[in-house]
Amino acid sequence: MGEFELIAKYFSAVGAKRSDVITGVGDDGAVIQVRDGHDLVVTTDTMVSGTHFFANDDPRALGHKLVTVNISDLAAMGAEPAWLSLALTLPEVNEHWLSQFSAGINETAEYYNCQLVGGDTTRGPLSLTMTAKGLVPRGKALSRSGAKVGDYIYVTGTLGDAALGLKLQQGLHQVSKKHQTHILQRFQYPSARVALGQALRNIANSAMDLSDGLYGDIQHILHRSAVGASIDVQKLPLSQALKDSCDNNTAYGLALSGGEDYELLFTVSENKRGSLDVLLSPYGVAITCIGRITGAIGKLELKKSEQTFSYQPQGFKHFA
Ligand code: ADP
Ligand code: MG
Repeated sequence: MGEFELIAKYFSAVGAKRSDVITGVGDDGAVIQVRDGHDLVVTTDTMVSGTHFFANDDPRALGHKLVTVNISDLAAMGAEPAWLSLALTLPEVNEHWLSQFSAGINETAEYYNCQLVGGDTTRGPLSLTMTAKGLVPRGKALSRSGAKVGDYIYVTGTLGDAALGLKLQQGLHQVSKKHQTHILQRFQYPSARVALGQALRNIANSAMDLSDGLYGDIQHILHRSAVGASIDVQKLPLSQALKDSCDNNTAYGLALSGGEDYELLFTVSENKRGSLDVLLSPYGVAITCIGRITGAIGKLELKKSEQTFSYQPQGFKHFA
């Protein structure tokens, strides 16, 4: 099977069929009708075999995750997902792998109403790069740079489950049978908080998604907003599955430094805080206040029962 046959078979009709796509896969470039009064948000994520996943991982889950990690970045910007491109590098043509991978992309892209509109296919070490494009009403994109001293810090969902899922998959941590499915799902089939991200446009001062672990990720808000933060580790939202599977300190460690949760972190000023629960309740995702933004620029303070919580972070950095 040649490159063009492969593209036609597995990637020419993937995701939702959007009416704003004038030309999708098959030409030198995609042609898209962009909505008036909106800004375009663009983001890219790469997943490399051996670094982000294992060559024998379930290809359907990989397709799902590749879409979700990109859509999660759009969610963090308050954008509505719309179009995807895929740069695929493959060591060989494995039709079983390709059909499962493209099915994973297809079902996830459809779920988020996105269409795959183009890409590139090359031979080499297995590597998956996706670019996602979305729309946000002009001037309404969320950012990492708007946090204000006194803001309340919130996170969606629960933290640490995906990191435990990775350990479980690697055989490095035991999880009781009743929690195994939930924990593995959180790692292999994460969700992007898209509707909630859009709802935050007129509420949050700053927002980001949690891909590398709260402890490291929040530093980006602190630097870009020139603020500090104080977080109470006892307030970190932990799933019952995580609590049942680890001691307290392990659970805090996974919640603080475990990656791939794809929950949103956002900050809200005092005067908007009261309406938050009511405004966000239709989205069916729990939100939890974990601390406050402070004036200590660049400093992250962790507390437990009003005491300093001493913690050695273990966040993942590619070039550290
Ligand atoms: P060009 O040589 O002009 O870059 P290609 O021959 O690489 O175009 O690709 C042919 C068409 O297939 C283009 O529309 C391109 O966007 C699309 N395409 C290539 N690889 C992929 C892929 N993995 N997924 C989706 N579309 C792809
Ligand atoms: Mg090309």
